[in-house]
Amino acid sequence: MAPPQPLDSLGRPLGVLRLSLTARCNLACPYCLPDGQEPPGLLQLEQRLAVVQAAVALGAHSLRLTGGEPLLHPQLENLITAVEPLRERGLREIALTSNGTLLSARRAQVLRAAGLDRITLSLDGADGASVARMAGLADARAGERALTAVLEAIEHARAAGFNPATGQLKLNAVIQRGRNDDQVVPLAELCRKRGLELRLIEYMDVGNRNGWSPAEVVSASEMAERIRFRWPLEPLERDLHSTARRWRYRDGAGRIAVVASVSQPFCGDCNRLRVTADGVAYTCLFAAPSSGLDLKPWLQPSIAPMGLEQALSQLWRSRRDRYSEERQTNASSRDHAEMAYLGG
Ligand code: SAM
Ligand code: SF4
Repeated sequence: MAPPQPLDSLGRPLGVLRLSLTARCNLACPYCLPDGQEPPGLLQLEQRLAVVQAAVALGAHSLRLTGGEPLLHPQLENLITAVEPLRERGLREIALTSNGTLLSARRAQVLRAAGLDRITLSLDGADGASVARMAGLADARAGERALTAVLEAIEHARAAGFNPATGQLKLNAVIQRGRNDDQVVPLAELCRKRGLELRLIEYMDVGNRNGWSPAEVVSASEMAERIRFRWPLEPLERDLHSTARRWRYRDGAGRIAVVASVSQPFCGDCNRLRVTADGVAYTCLFAAPSSGLDLKPWLQPSIAPMGLEQALSQLWRSRRDRYSEERQTNASSRDHAEMAYLGG
C-alpha cells in the first residue's frame, strides 16, 4: 500500500508542483526583473523528471512549467513527453505559464502533441505603449510588436487545440497602479472578444528588486468594480486551492478572475511546492532565498529516488508558511527570492 501523502504543519496537502525551467527571460518586466544569466548547476532532464516523480508520489496532481520564460528552454517538449507516464501515478494536468512572445504555430502544436493540457499567457496591456512599459521594452513600437506576437500566440494555441472555453487557454495580467491600471477594462475587452478568461493579478512583493510599495497595488475589489461598472458580473464560488476569485459576465461573455494574493490572501489552502531551475525547493512564493532546500544531494552524482522523496516529504511536513496572511498584520521587510528564479 502507498504511504499516506504528507500534510504540512497547518494540515495542507501537496497538490501543485511549479517547476521553473530557467531563470532567464527574453523580457524584463520591471515588476519581475529576471537575472540575465542562469544560476550555476541547472538541472538536467532526468533530474527534473525525478523531482516530478517524487512530488507526484507525495500527492502533486498538477505540474506547472514556468520560469523565467519556459519557452527559452530547448528541452521543454522532451520534459513534457517524459512526465506523461506519471498520469498513471496520479498526475492529472501539465500546464505552462509563458509570456507568449516566442510561441509559434509549430511550437504550440508540438507542445500539444507532447501532452501539454493548459497554457496561461501573460500580457499586461492592450496597446503598444502599455505593453512596452510593463515588459521593459524600449518604446511603443517594440510594445506593439510584442502585443502582436502574444495575440498571434493566442490564436496559435487555440488552433493547436487549447480550448479557452474549457480553461485550457487563459491570459494573466499584472496590474500596477500608475503604470497600467488604465488597462483593466481594455484587457477585459480584448479577452471577451477572444473568449478567454482574463486573470488579473494584484502586484505582489515578490523579490527585492522591484521596489514594491502597497500604494501601487490595485486591489481585487477595485479591479472587479471597474469591470462591473462596464459589464455586469455575477460572483462564482472560489474553488478550493485556487489562487483566484472568479466572476461570470451576466451577458454570457465568459469569466474573469482576480488573484488577490495581497488584499485577500489564500494561504489557508495553499498546496503549492516550487522547485527552481537549479533544483532548490521552496514552499512559499514569498520565501527568503536562504529558506530553500537544495535537492542536488539526491540528484547527483546519481539520482536517489527514495532519498529525494523523503527529503521533500520532510520539507512539506515541516512547512508553516502563511506569508501573505502575516503581511496583513505585520509590515515585514523580509528578504525575498526573486520571482523569475522561484518560478512565478
Ligand atoms: N515568463 C512567464 C510569464 O511571464 O508568464 C512565466 C514566469 S512569470 C514569473 C509568471 C507570472 O508571474 C506572470 O504572469 C507574471 O506576470 C507574474 N508576476 C511576475 N512578477 C510579479 C509580481 N511582482 N506581482 C504579481 N505577478 C507577478
Ligand atoms: Fe519575464 Fe515573465 Fe518575469 Fe516578465 S514576468 S520578466 S515575462 S519571467
